[in-house]
Amino acid sequence: MVSHGCHERQENKAIYTLSSERCPNIISKSAWGAKKTSCRDRLSNPVPWVIIHHTAGASCNTKASCISQVKGIQNFHMNSNKWCDVGYNFLVGNDGSVYEGRGWTMVGAHAKGSNSKSIGISFIGDYMTKLPSQAALNAAKRLISCGVSKRMIQPNYTLKGHRNVGSTDCPGNALYNNIKSWGRFKA
Ligand SMILES: [Zn+2]
Repeated sequence: MVSHGCHERQENKAIYTLSSERCPNIISKSAWGAKKTSCRDRLSNPVPWVIIHHTAGASCNTKASCISQVKGIQNFHMNSNKWCDVGYNFLVGNDGSVYEGRGWTMVGAHAKGSNSKSIGISFIGDYMTKLPSQAALNAAKRLISCGVSKRMIQPNYTLKGHRNVGSTDCPGNALYNNIKSWGRFKA
């Protein structure tokens, strides 16, 4: 079959295009001006769980204000908690951008006992009584699809809220009720 090789290449190109389309805009640590970090523990990818958090602080609607929040959270986690970096793998702002924390491959410090088998995604703000912006919700869902397509998250992953694995209100009642409808949720 002469056309077989060509057909394969086209398929690969289609998969590649699909993968990148699934990924939201991710602001890298160098782009938001992160402090140098010294984390060593690597995740064993693809991980089986995605854990959703909120930061329980101020929300942000612009890139500048979200960067300010992310820097403040990294400072707090490193200076007060004495962690090697911001605890979350990713943070999501109401501007609809994803901010890189420990990223896809480093173990986070976001859900005690579950860090080594999960990607922790935190919405910037307090979502007890209100939801993040639609842009933020969409960005987080795309980030999960992106992680599956990059083989960083297992295709049959389980979605959880922080409260499902620890004694906490996180990620807030309103957001927790919302993530139940995302698919693959299991308390
Ligand atoms: Zn949390």
